[in-house]
Amino acid sequence: MKNKIQEKFRTLFGEEGRFFASAGRINLIGEHTDYNGGYVFPGAIDKGIMAEIALNGTDRVKVFSLDYDEFVEFGLREEDKPIQQWARYIFGVCRETIKRGGKVGGFNAVFAGDVPLGAGLSSSAAIESCFAFALNELNGNAINKFELAKIGQSTEHNYCGVNCGIMDQFASVFGKKGCLIRLDCKTLEYKYFPFDPEAAGYRLVLIDSCVKHELASSAYNDRRASCEAAAAAIRARHPEVEFLSDAKRVWLEEVRSEITEEDFLRAEYVIGEVQRVLDVCDALERNDYETAGEMMYQTHFGMSRLYEVSCEELDFLNRIARKMDVSGSRVMGGGFGGCTINLVKKELCQPFIESAVELFTTRFGHAPKIYNVVISDGARELE
Ligand code: ADP
Ligand code: MG
Repeated sequence: MKNKIQEKFRTLFGEEGRFFASAGRINLIGEHTDYNGGYVFPGAIDKGIMAEIALNGTDRVKVFSLDYDEFVEFGLREEDKPIQQWARYIFGVCRETIKRGGKVGGFNAVFAGDVPLGAGLSSSAAIESCFAFALNELNGNAINKFELAKIGQSTEHNYCGVNCGIMDQFASVFGKKGCLIRLDCKTLEYKYFPFDPEAAGYRLVLIDSCVKHELASSAYNDRRASCEAAAAAIRARHPEVEFLSDAKRVWLEEVRSEITEEDFLRAEYVIGEVQRVLDVCDALERNDYETAGEMMYQTHFGMSRLYEVSCEELDFLNRIARKMDVSGSRVMGGGFGGCTINLVKKELCQPFIESAVELFTTRFGHAPKIYNVVISDGARELE
Protein backbone atom coordinates (compact mmCIF):
# COMPACT_ATOMS: atom_id res chain seq x y z
CA MET A 1 0.00 0.00 0.00
CA LYS A 2 2.81 2.38 0.90
CA ASN A 3 4.49 2.02 -2.50
CA LYS A 4 1.30 2.76 -4.38
CA ILE A 5 0.67 5.83 -2.29
CA GLN A 6 4.23 7.03 -2.77
CA GLU A 7 4.11 6.51 -6.53
CA LYS A 8 0.83 8.40 -6.89
CA PHE A 9 2.00 11.22 -4.63
CA ARG A 10 5.12 11.71 -6.71
CA THR A 11 3.17 11.64 -9.98
CA LEU A 12 0.58 14.14 -8.77
CA PHE A 13 2.70 16.52 -6.74
CA GLY A 14 6.29 15.87 -7.85
CA GLU A 15 7.63 15.71 -4.32
CA GLU A 16 7.63 13.64 -1.17
CA GLY A 17 5.59 14.01 1.98
CA ARG A 18 5.44 12.44 5.41
CA PHE A 19 3.60 9.20 6.09
CA PHE A 20 0.88 8.82 8.68
CA ALA A 21 -1.43 5.95 9.56
CA SER A 22 -4.32 5.08 11.77
CA ALA A 23 -6.54 2.11 12.40
CA GLY A 24 -10.03 0.70 12.53
CA ARG A 25 -11.16 -0.83 15.80
CA ILE A 26 -12.94 -3.69 17.50
CA ASN A 27 -14.72 -3.65 20.84
CA LEU A 28 -14.14 -6.86 22.79
CA ILE A 29 -16.96 -6.29 25.26
CA GLY A 30 -19.07 -3.42 26.62
CA GLU A 31 -21.93 -2.88 24.19
CA HIS A 32 -24.71 -0.30 24.64
CA THR A 33 -22.88 0.80 27.77
CA ASP A 34 -21.52 4.09 26.39
CA TYR A 35 -24.73 6.11 26.62
CA ASN A 36 -25.36 4.58 30.05
CA GLY A 37 -22.13 5.99 31.43
CA GLY A 38 -20.52 2.54 31.56
CA TYR A 39 -17.34 1.00 30.18
CA VAL A 40 -16.33 0.05 26.67
CA PHE A 41 -13.26 -2.04 25.89
CA PRO A 42 -11.98 -1.34 22.38
CA GLY A 43 -8.65 -1.72 20.62
CA ALA A 44 -7.16 -0.60 17.31
CA ILE A 45 -6.66 -3.26 14.64
CA ASP A 46 -4.19 -4.13 11.91
CA LYS A 47 -6.51 -2.70 9.26
CA GLY A 48 -6.37 1.01 8.74
CA ILE A 49 -5.71 4.07 6.66
CA MET A 50 -2.34 5.25 5.40
CA ALA A 51 -1.65 8.70 3.99
CA GLU A 52 1.26 10.62 2.55
CA ILE A 53 0.85 14.31 3.27
CA ALA A 54 2.81 17.53 2.74
CA LEU A 55 1.90 21.14 3.38
CA ASN A 56 1.68 23.00 0.07
CA GLY A 57 1.96 26.62 1.22
CA THR A 58 -1.48 27.57 -0.15
CA ASP A 59 -4.94 27.64 1.42
CA ARG A 60 -6.12 24.71 -0.71
CA VAL A 61 -6.32 21.03 0.15
CA LYS A 62 -5.63 18.58 -2.68
CA VAL A 63 -6.38 14.96 -1.87
CA PHE A 64 -6.36 11.82 -3.93
CA SER A 65 -8.20 8.71 -2.72
CA LEU A 66 -6.52 5.64 -4.19
CA ASP A 67 -9.41 3.38 -3.30
CA TYR A 68 -12.00 5.60 -4.99
CA ASP A 69 -9.50 6.63 -7.70
CA GLU A 70 -10.71 10.18 -7.26
CA PHE A 71 -9.07 13.59 -6.82
CA VAL A 72 -10.76 16.32 -4.77
CA GLU A 73 -9.67 19.87 -4.09
CA PHE A 74 -11.26 22.14 -1.51
CA GLY A 75 -10.64 25.29 0.52
CA LEU A 76 -10.61 25.54 4.28
CA ARG A 77 -13.61 27.78 4.90
CA GLU A 78 -16.97 26.43 6.10
CA GLU A 79 -18.55 27.08 2.69
CA ASP A 80 -15.91 24.99 0.91
CA LYS A 81 -17.42 21.66 2.00
CA PRO A 82 -16.83 19.07 -0.76
CA ILE A 83 -19.63 16.90 -2.12
CA GLN A 84 -17.72 13.61 -2.02
CA GLN A 85 -18.51 11.76 1.20
CA TRP A 86 -14.97 10.49 1.68
CA ALA A 87 -13.58 14.02 1.33
CA ARG A 88 -15.98 15.34 3.94
CA TYR A 89 -14.21 13.33 6.63
CA ILE A 90 -10.98 15.13 5.79
CA PHE A 91 -12.64 18.52 5.37
CA GLY A 92 -14.42 18.04 8.71
CA VAL A 93 -11.15 17.26 10.45
CA CYS A 94 -9.62 20.46 9.02
CA ARG A 95 -12.59 22.53 10.13
CA GLU A 96 -12.79 21.02 13.61
CA THR A 97 -9.06 21.58 14.09
CA ILE A 98 -9.45 25.23 13.10
CA LYS A 99 -12.47 25.61 15.42
CA ARG A 100 -10.23 24.49 18.29
CA GLY A 101 -7.70 27.18 17.53
CA GLY A 102 -5.36 24.90 15.60
CA LYS A 103 -3.53 26.10 12.52
CA VAL A 104 -4.29 24.25 9.27
CA GLY A 105 -2.36 25.15 6.15
CA GLY A 106 -3.26 23.82 2.71
CA PHE A 107 -1.80 20.41 1.97
CA ASN A 108 -1.39 17.70 -0.63
CA ALA A 109 -2.33 14.14 0.26
CA VAL A 110 -2.74 10.66 -1.18
CA PHE A 111 -4.33 7.99 0.97
CA ALA A 112 -5.60 4.42 0.92
CA GLY A 113 -6.95 1.90 3.37
CA ASP A 114 -7.94 -1.67 4.07
CA VAL A 115 -10.66 -1.35 6.70
CA PRO A 116 -13.79 -2.94 5.23
CA LEU A 117 -16.37 -0.17 4.82
CA GLY A 118 -19.48 -0.20 6.96
CA ALA A 119 -18.65 -3.55 8.59
CA GLY A 120 -18.60 -2.06 12.07
CA LEU A 121 -14.82 -1.63 12.16
CA SER A 122 -15.01 2.13 11.88
CA SER A 123 -13.19 2.92 8.68
CA SER A 124 -14.44 6.49 9.06
CA ALA A 125 -12.75 6.91 12.45
CA ALA A 126 -9.54 5.59 10.89
CA ILE A 127 -9.57 8.39 8.28
CA GLU A 128 -10.46 11.04 10.85
CA SER A 129 -7.79 10.08 13.34
CA CYS A 130 -5.13 9.65 10.65
CA PHE A 131 -5.71 13.18 9.34
CA ALA A 132 -6.32 14.74 12.76
CA PHE A 133 -3.03 13.32 13.98
CA ALA A 134 -1.15 14.29 10.81
CA LEU A 135 -2.45 17.88 10.68
CA ASN A 136 -1.53 18.32 14.32
CA GLU A 137 2.07 17.25 13.57
CA LEU A 138 2.48 19.03 10.25
CA ASN A 139 1.16 22.35 11.50
CA GLY A 140 2.98 22.21 14.81
CA ASN A 141 -0.25 22.39 16.81
CA ALA A 142 -0.19 20.98 20.32
CA ILE A 143 -3.66 19.51 20.45
CA ASN A 144 -3.79 16.62 22.92
CA LYS A 145 -4.83 13.11 21.96
CA PHE A 146 -8.24 13.30 23.56
CA GLU A 147 -9.00 16.45 21.62
CA LEU A 148 -7.80 14.72 18.42
CA ALA A 149 -10.37 12.00 19.08
CA LYS A 150 -13.03 14.65 19.65
CA ILE A 151 -12.09 16.30 16.36
CA GLY A 152 -13.02 13.02 14.69
CA GLN A 153 -16.23 12.68 16.67
CA SER A 154 -17.29 16.27 15.88
CA THR A 155 -16.50 15.62 12.23
CA GLU A 156 -19.05 12.79 12.25
CA HIS A 157 -21.61 15.00 14.03
CA ASN A 158 -21.16 18.20 12.05
CA TYR A 159 -20.06 17.09 8.58
CA CYS A 160 -21.25 13.51 8.13
CA GLY A 161 -24.61 13.41 9.95
CA VAL A 162 -23.61 10.57 12.28
CA ASN A 163 -24.39 11.18 15.94
CA CYS A 164 -21.78 8.82 17.37
CA GLY A 165 -20.14 8.51 20.78
CA ILE A 166 -16.41 8.88 21.38
CA MET A 167 -15.38 5.20 21.41
CA ASP A 168 -14.38 4.71 17.76
CA GLN A 169 -12.21 7.79 17.48
CA PHE A 170 -10.82 7.24 20.96
CA ALA A 171 -9.72 3.69 20.09
CA SER A 172 -8.32 4.78 16.76
CA VAL A 173 -6.22 7.57 18.32
CA PHE A 174 -5.15 5.80 21.53
CA GLY A 175 -4.82 2.25 20.20
CA LYS A 176 -1.66 0.37 21.13
CA LYS A 177 -0.29 -2.93 19.89
CA GLY A 178 -1.10 -5.81 22.25
CA CYS A 179 -3.49 -3.74 24.38
CA LEU A 180 -7.17 -3.09 24.74
CA ILE A 181 -8.31 0.12 26.40
CA ARG A 182 -11.01 0.24 29.02
CA LEU A 183 -12.73 3.59 28.69
CA ASP A 184 -15.09 4.86 31.35
CA CYS A 185 -17.67 6.71 29.26
CA LYS A 186 -18.77 8.82 32.23
CA THR A 187 -15.44 10.18 33.41
CA LEU A 188 -13.45 9.48 30.22
CA GLU A 189 -10.78 7.85 32.36
CA TYR A 190 -9.05 5.03 30.56
CA LYS A 191 -6.68 2.20 31.28
CA TYR A 192 -4.69 -0.12 29.02
CA PHE A 193 -4.94 -3.88 29.56
CA PRO A 194 -2.70 -6.49 27.95
CA PHE A 195 -4.41 -8.37 25.16
CA ASP A 196 -2.27 -10.71 23.13
CA PRO A 197 -4.43 -13.69 22.20
CA GLU A 198 -1.88 -14.95 19.63
CA ALA A 199 0.70 -15.45 22.38
CA ALA A 200 -1.86 -17.47 24.36
CA GLY A 201 -2.83 -19.63 21.38
CA TYR A 202 -5.94 -17.79 20.23
CA ARG A 203 -7.05 -15.65 17.30
CA LEU A 204 -9.68 -12.97 16.96
CA VAL A 205 -11.96 -13.72 14.05
CA LEU A 206 -14.79 -11.51 12.87
CA ILE A 207 -17.63 -12.95 10.87
CA ASP A 208 -19.56 -10.34 8.95
CA SER A 209 -23.16 -11.39 8.41
CA CYS A 210 -23.36 -8.75 5.65
CA VAL A 211 -26.87 -7.84 6.76
CA LYS A 212 -28.14 -4.64 8.30
CA HIS A 213 -31.75 -4.76 9.44
CA GLU A 214 -33.76 -1.58 9.22
CA LEU A 215 -34.96 -1.71 12.83
CA ALA A 216 -31.64 -0.41 14.07
CA SER A 217 -32.27 3.29 14.59
CA SER A 218 -35.80 3.20 16.04
CA ALA A 219 -34.83 0.30 18.31
CA TYR A 220 -31.81 2.28 19.45
CA ASN A 221 -34.02 5.16 20.58
CA ASP A 222 -36.38 2.74 22.36
CA ARG A 223 -33.46 1.15 24.21
CA ARG A 224 -32.17 4.50 25.33
CA ALA A 225 -35.63 5.46 26.60
CA SER A 226 -35.90 2.19 28.55
CA CYS A 227 -32.52 2.77 30.17
CA GLU A 228 -33.48 6.29 31.14
CA ALA A 229 -36.80 5.12 32.61
CA ALA A 230 -35.07 2.47 34.71
CA ALA A 231 -32.36 4.90 35.82
CA ALA A 232 -34.98 7.48 36.83
CA ALA A 233 -36.89 4.93 38.95
CA ILE A 234 -33.69 3.87 40.71
CA ARG A 235 -32.56 7.47 41.14
CA ALA A 236 -35.74 8.24 43.09
CA ARG A 237 -34.44 5.90 45.81
CA HIS A 238 -30.71 6.28 45.24
CA PRO A 239 -29.96 9.86 44.21
CA GLU A 240 -26.33 9.02 43.48
CA VAL A 241 -27.42 7.16 40.35
CA GLU A 242 -26.67 9.59 37.55
CA PHE A 243 -26.45 6.96 34.84
CA LEU A 244 -27.86 3.46 34.76
CA SER A 245 -24.30 2.13 35.04
CA ASP A 246 -24.13 3.56 38.57
CA ALA A 247 -26.92 1.26 39.76
CA LYS A 248 -26.42 -1.99 41.60
CA ARG A 249 -28.30 -5.07 40.50
CA VAL A 250 -30.26 -5.18 43.81
CA TRP A 251 -31.38 -1.59 43.32
CA LEU A 252 -32.91 -2.58 40.03
CA GLU A 253 -34.80 -5.37 41.82
CA GLU A 254 -36.22 -2.81 44.24
CA VAL A 255 -37.97 -0.90 41.46
CA ARG A 256 -39.09 -3.92 39.46
CA SER A 257 -42.79 -3.31 40.08
CA GLU A 258 -42.46 0.37 39.22
CA ILE A 259 -41.16 -0.06 35.68
CA THR A 260 -42.30 -2.14 32.74
CA GLU A 261 -40.98 -5.67 32.40
CA GLU A 262 -39.32 -4.62 29.18
CA ASP A 263 -37.48 -1.71 30.81
CA PHE A 264 -36.43 -4.08 33.57
CA LEU A 265 -34.88 -6.55 31.13
CA ARG A 266 -33.06 -3.78 29.23
CA ALA A 267 -31.62 -2.44 32.47
CA GLU A 268 -30.69 -5.91 33.65
CA TYR A 269 -28.60 -6.32 30.51
CA VAL A 270 -26.81 -2.98 30.93
CA ILE A 271 -25.97 -3.47 34.60
CA GLY A 272 -24.70 -6.97 33.83
CA GLU A 273 -22.67 -5.71 30.88
CA VAL A 274 -20.86 -3.07 32.92
CA GLN A 275 -19.82 -5.78 35.38
CA ARG A 276 -18.76 -8.11 32.57
CA VAL A 277 -16.28 -5.54 31.25
CA LEU A 278 -14.66 -5.42 34.68
CA ASP A 279 -14.64 -9.22 34.88
CA VAL A 280 -13.00 -9.53 31.47
CA CYS A 281 -10.30 -7.04 32.47
CA ASP A 282 -9.59 -9.08 35.60
CA ALA A 283 -9.47 -12.26 33.56
CA LEU A 284 -7.03 -10.77 31.04
CA GLU A 285 -4.71 -9.65 33.79
CA ARG A 286 -4.52 -13.34 34.74
CA ASN A 287 -4.05 -14.27 31.08
CA ASP A 288 -7.34 -16.17 31.38
CA TYR A 289 -8.81 -16.05 27.87
CA GLU A 290 -11.38 -18.78 28.55
CA THR A 291 -13.14 -16.68 31.19
CA ALA A 292 -13.01 -13.64 28.92
CA GLY A 293 -14.57 -15.75 26.17
CA GLU A 294 -17.32 -17.02 28.43
CA MET A 295 -18.23 -13.42 29.24
CA MET A 296 -18.55 -12.74 25.53
CA TYR A 297 -21.17 -15.51 25.31
CA GLN A 298 -23.01 -13.97 28.23
CA THR A 299 -23.01 -10.64 26.46
CA HIS A 300 -24.43 -12.28 23.38
CA PHE A 301 -27.16 -13.90 25.42
CA GLY A 302 -27.98 -10.54 27.02
CA MET A 303 -28.02 -8.67 23.74
CA SER A 304 -30.20 -11.34 22.18
CA ARG A 305 -32.70 -12.11 24.97
CA LEU A 306 -32.71 -9.16 27.35
CA TYR A 307 -31.74 -6.17 25.24
CA GLU A 308 -33.17 -7.76 22.08
CA VAL A 309 -30.82 -6.20 19.56
CA SER A 310 -29.58 -9.37 17.88
CA CYS A 311 -31.10 -10.99 14.81
CA GLU A 312 -31.49 -14.43 13.29
CA GLU A 313 -28.22 -14.28 11.35
CA LEU A 314 -26.14 -13.28 14.38
CA ASP A 315 -27.79 -15.78 16.71
CA PHE A 316 -27.11 -18.45 14.10
CA LEU A 317 -23.40 -17.58 13.97
CA ASN A 318 -23.26 -17.51 17.76
CA ARG A 319 -24.80 -20.99 18.00
CA ILE A 320 -22.31 -22.42 15.52
CA ALA A 321 -19.47 -20.98 17.60
CA ARG A 322 -20.86 -22.53 20.78
CA LYS A 323 -21.38 -25.91 19.13
CA MET A 324 -17.81 -25.94 17.89
CA ASP A 325 -16.34 -25.02 21.27
CA VAL A 326 -15.13 -21.63 20.19
CA SER A 327 -13.94 -19.91 23.38
CA GLY A 328 -15.93 -16.69 23.00
CA SER A 329 -18.45 -15.25 20.56
CA ARG A 330 -20.86 -12.37 20.49
CA VAL A 331 -22.46 -9.79 18.27
CA MET A 332 -20.24 -6.71 18.01
CA GLY A 333 -21.65 -3.22 17.64
CA GLY A 334 -25.17 -1.91 18.06
CA GLY A 335 -26.83 -5.06 16.74
CA PHE A 336 -29.40 -6.03 14.06
CA GLY A 337 -26.59 -7.05 11.75
CA GLY A 338 -22.89 -6.56 11.22
CA CYS A 339 -20.25 -8.87 12.68
CA THR A 340 -19.81 -11.38 15.42
CA ILE A 341 -16.46 -11.22 17.17
CA ASN A 342 -14.99 -14.60 18.07
CA LEU A 343 -12.13 -15.65 20.28
CA VAL A 344 -10.95 -18.89 18.73
CA LYS A 345 -8.22 -21.36 19.65
CA LYS A 346 -5.66 -21.37 16.83
CA GLU A 347 -6.21 -25.00 15.86
CA LEU A 348 -9.96 -24.45 15.68
CA CYS A 349 -9.81 -21.43 13.37
CA GLN A 350 -9.86 -23.20 10.05
CA PRO A 351 -12.61 -25.73 10.81
CA PHE A 352 -14.71 -23.06 12.52
CA ILE A 353 -14.45 -20.62 9.64
CA GLU A 354 -15.17 -23.33 7.07
CA SER A 355 -18.23 -24.59 8.92
CA ALA A 356 -19.55 -21.12 9.65
CA VAL A 357 -19.25 -20.06 6.01
CA GLU A 358 -20.85 -23.23 4.73
CA LEU A 359 -23.74 -23.41 7.19
CA PHE A 360 -24.46 -19.69 7.01
CA THR A 361 -24.45 -19.68 3.22
CA THR A 362 -26.80 -22.67 3.06
CA ARG A 363 -29.16 -21.09 5.57
CA PHE A 364 -29.24 -17.47 4.37
CA GLY A 365 -28.28 -17.70 0.70
CA HIS A 366 -25.23 -15.46 0.86
CA ALA A 367 -21.74 -15.96 2.24
CA PRO A 368 -20.53 -14.12 5.33
CA LYS A 369 -17.17 -12.36 5.19
CA ILE A 370 -14.27 -13.30 7.43
CA TYR A 371 -11.78 -10.86 8.92
CA ASN A 372 -8.84 -11.91 11.06
CA VAL A 373 -7.77 -9.05 13.26
CA VAL A 374 -4.73 -8.38 15.40
CA ILE A 375 -4.68 -5.61 17.99
CA SER A 376 -2.28 -2.95 16.71
CA ASP A 377 -1.20 0.67 16.97
CA GLY A 378 -3.57 3.57 16.38
CA ALA A 379 -2.73 7.02 14.95
CA ARG A 380 1.00 7.51 14.33
CA GLU A 381 3.65 8.78 11.98
CA LEU A 382 5.44 6.13 9.95
CA GLU A 383 9.17 6.06 9.32
P1 ADP B 1 -17.66 2.45 9.07
O1 ADP B 1 -18.52 1.65 9.99
O2 ADP B 1 -16.69 1.58 8.34
O3 ADP B 1 -17.02 3.62 9.76
P2 ADP B 1 -18.99 4.56 7.69
O4 ADP B 1 -20.16 4.59 6.79
O5 ADP B 1 -19.04 5.34 8.94
O6 ADP B 1 -18.65 3.02 7.98
O7 ADP B 1 -17.71 5.07 6.90
C1 ADP B 1 -17.44 4.58 5.60
C2 ADP B 1 -17.06 5.75 4.72
O8 ADP B 1 -15.73 6.20 5.06
C3 ADP B 1 -16.98 5.39 3.27
O9 ADP B 1 -18.24 5.53 2.65
C4 ADP B 1 -15.99 6.43 2.75
O10 ADP B 1 -16.60 7.67 2.54
C5 ADP B 1 -15.03 6.56 3.92
N1 ADP B 1 -13.89 5.63 3.76
C6 ADP B 1 -13.60 4.55 4.50
N2 ADP B 1 -12.47 3.93 4.07
C7 ADP B 1 -12.05 4.64 3.01
C8 ADP B 1 -10.94 4.51 2.10
N3 ADP B 1 -10.07 3.50 2.19
N4 ADP B 1 -10.82 5.45 1.14
C9 ADP B 1 -11.70 6.46 1.03
N5 ADP B 1 -12.75 6.63 1.83
C10 ADP B 1 -12.94 5.73 2.81
MG1 MG C 1 -18.15 5.12 10.76
